[in-house]
Amino acid sequence: MTDAPLLIVGAAMAGLRTAEGARRAGYAGPIEFLGAEAHAPYNRPPLSKELLQTEGHGHDEVAFPIRSALEQGVTWTLGRAAASLDTERRVVTDEAGDEHPYRALVIATGLRPKPLPIPDHGLTGIHVLRTLDDAVGLRSALRPGANVVILGSGFVGCEIAATAAKNGCAVSIVTQSAVPLDRALGPELGGEVRRRHEAHGVRFFTRDGLFGLVGDPGVERVILTSGVMLECDVLVVAIGSDPNTEWLADSGIDVSDGVLVDGGLRAVGVDGVVRPDVFAVGDVARYPNPLFDDVARRVEHWNLPTETGKRAGQLIAAHLAGEDCEPLAAAGFAPLPSFWSDQYDMHLLAFGMTYLADRRELVAGALDDECVVEYYRGDALVGVCGIGMRSLVQSYRSRFTVPTAAV
Ligand SMILES: Cc1cc2nc3c(=O)[nH]c(=O)nc-3n(C[C@H](O)[C@H](O)[C@H](O)COP(=O)(O)OP(=O)(O)OC[C@H]3O[C@@H](n4cnc5c(N)ncnc54)[C@H](O)[C@@H]3O)c2cc1C
Repeated sequence: MTDAPLLIVGAAMAGLRTAEGARRAGYAGPIEFLGAEAHAPYNRPPLSKELLQTEGHGHDEVAFPIRSALEQGVTWTLGRAAASLDTERRVVTDEAGDEHPYRALVIATGLRPKPLPIPDHGLTGIHVLRTLDDAVGLRSALRPGANVVILGSGFVGCEIAATAAKNGCAVSIVTQSAVPLDRALGPELGGEVRRRHEAHGVRFFTRDGLFGLVGDPGVERVILTSGVMLECDVLVVAIGSDPNTEWLADSGIDVSDGVLVDGGLRAVGVDGVVRPDVFAVGDVARYPNPLFDDVARRVEHWNLPTETGKRAGQLIAAHLAGEDCEPLAAAGFAPLPSFWSDQYDMHLLAFGMTYLADRRELVAGALDDECVVEYYRGDALVGVCGIGMRSLVQSYRSRFTVPTAAV
C-alpha cells in the first residue's frame, strides 16, 4: 500500500524524535501517531521533580514543541492503544478493532512501572509514577505531614522521596539493596545519596521488602519482611519497569526483553531475521552498543529516545525512498548513554554504563561535597558520574570510543 503512512505506535518522546528524524532525512510522506495516552508528547523527567511539587503545573508546562516539519501530513490518534501487529499484511489493530496500515512501522511504546507485588489488595492510596496523570494523582496525595512509604530506591524512587520530603511529608524508603542507587552508582555514591536523604529526614529500611498491607479502604500500614510496621497514607511503588510489548506477542518479533533491534534499529524476528520495515526506538528497544560490548540491552535514559529516533529516522527515510539500507545499518550505532538526577540541591550527572563496572575510583573532590567517580570493568572505563563538577564530567564524553577491533 504505497499511500499508507509511516505509523508510529507510542506518541511520546522517542516516537516524536523518530518522526523529526525521518523528516530531516527527507521523508515527506504521511505520518500517523497511535498513542495510548490522551496527551500529546511530553517530557517525563519533571514528573518526579518540578511538576510533582508545583500545584497547577500540567501538560502545558511539560509538552514538547511540535516542530514545523510535523505540522503538515501528520495524524494523531491519541487515547487508543495498539492491540496487535500483523507484519505480513503490514497492519496494526488497535484496542477498538480499527486497523492502521503502514509502509513502515515504529515501535515506541516505552515502559510501564512494575506493579505492587501483592495482587488484588483492593486498597486505595497506592501509586506508581510514569505518566502525567500518575504525577498529578501523586502530587495531590503528597500533602504536608502525610506518611509516605516508597518501595524501591532507584532514581524515580529517590527523586520522589526528595520531592515528598521537601513537601513536608514523613518519608520512608524500603529497598532490597544495601544503599539507594546501588546498581547504578555502586556503594560509595549510593551511601552518600543515603546520607543526604537522611539529612532531610528520610528513613531507610534496607535489605528489606514488603510483606503485607493493612487498611480499609485506603492503605494505613505497611508490614515489612523484617517485621517492622510503618504508618502509611501513601505507598509509592517504584521497583522498576517492564517493556510495553504485549501487543507484539503474535507478531513474530523477538520481544524477550523489549524489542530486539539491529544496529539500524530494525526489529529482529524470533527467527533471527531483520524486518526491514519495522523499527524500535527509545526505552523499549534492546540493542548492542559497541562502545561497551556486543550484548543487546535496553537503556532507560532520556538522551536515547533522541539518539535512537535520529538514527531510525535516517534508515526509515532511506527505506521508504527505496534505497539500499544495508550500508547505513552496517555502519553501527554507538550512542553514549547519559543521565542526570536532581535530588534536593544535589545534581548527579553520568555518562556511560556505570552499572557494568566491577571497580570504582574517586578521582576528584570528596563524596560529601562535589566529586567525580570513574567506573571501570577490568581496565576499560565504562562510566563516570559526578555530584556537581559538571564541566569535568562533561569532559569525559570524548573518552568513550569504540575499540578498533569492534569497528
Ligand atoms: C518519572 C520519570 C522521571 C525521569 N527522569 C529522568 C531523568 O531525570 N534523567 C534521565 O536521563 N531520564 C529520566 N527518565 C527517563 C526518560 O524520561 C525516558 O527514558 C523517556 O521518557 C523514554 O521515552 P520513550 O518515548 O522511549 O518511552 P515512554 O516515555 O515510556 O513513552 C511510551 C509511550 O507509548 C505509549 N504506549 C504504550 N503502550 C502502547 C500501545 N500498546 N499502543 C500505543 N501506545 C502505547 C505509552 O502510553 C507512552 O505514551 C525519567 C522517567 C520517568 C518516568
